[in-house]
Amino acid sequence: MKIKKIIIFILTLLLAVVLAYFSFDTVTQVEQPDKTKLNVHFIDVGQADCMLITTPDDKTMLIDAGNNADGDDVVNYIKKQGIDTIDVLIGTHPHEDHIGGMDDVIKNFNIGKFYMPRAANNTKTFEDVLDAAQEKGLKITAGKAGMNIGLSDSVNAEILAPNSETYKDLNNYSIVVKLTYKQDSFLFMGDAEKQSENEILDKGYDISTDVLKIGHHGSSTSTSENFLKAVSPNDTVICVGKGNDYGHPHKETMKLLKDYGLTVYRTDECGTIIATSDGNGITFNVKPGDYKYHSK
Ligand SMILES: [Zn+2]
Repeated sequence: MKIKKIIIFILTLLLAVVLAYFSFDTVTQVEQPDKTKLNVHFIDVGQADCMLITTPDDKTMLIDAGNNADGDDVVNYIKKQGIDTIDVLIGTHPHEDHIGGMDDVIKNFNIGKFYMPRAANNTKTFEDVLDAAQEKGLKITAGKAGMNIGLSDSVNAEILAPNSETYKDLNNYSIVVKLTYKQDSFLFMGDAEKQSENEILDKGYDISTDVLKIGHHGSSTSTSENFLKAVSPNDTVICVGKGNDYGHPHKETMKLLKDYGLTVYRTDECGTIIATSDGNGITFNVKPGDYKYHSK
């Protein structure tokens, strides 16, 4: 009788330890936002882009996947959100800091639709992505302006760029996506530069947006004043690595954001940023960063 009690006591203790371990793991490593809302995770991948979007009706979209070295981290982050299927995968343009971890993502998840612009890059990274897609029998849809992604019943996702067939700079091929959930909206610029911004303006799209993911890591090649005025965001997000080689974000961009009094969330200061929308207001899980810029 006594032995039985001791065994039950030990088993209970073990169970408590296991439960404590798992809840500790979830809380400290990956924040789990309210899944009944729209969540946009700007995953901190240093000097690179990676955004995970989950909708209230349980659809999932990933825009970019960080550098090659970020593949495992990106896969683990998404898995810890309890996700095994990515309904829409977007590689904004074929630079390593956007599609580096994409092959790992393709290998580790069920993928619905995969969008990339019609642009090639003669690198092993780009080849790896094509190989991973081919091995999975995953077709690549050439994303261009005017396409509706058909992400979910509640959240509209529309492609606003690229608007031309060819560009000098790969950055301008960037697939630009506007996400709208009831009253709330997000605009994801990839690394689109001023040429693409001007084309978007010329097309006359409704680009007024609540949250603007600033183009090209805050480089002065992007975010012209005209474009920023037309978007007229409340909050901005910059995906950028501490002490990067490019001097991002640039002084010109930060000065503009400061002059317009816009809130700046930046992954080099805030880490991973989660914006949550109930369709009638957006909240952030972190405090905003400052207007510090890096000099080249
Ligand atoms: Zn980039």
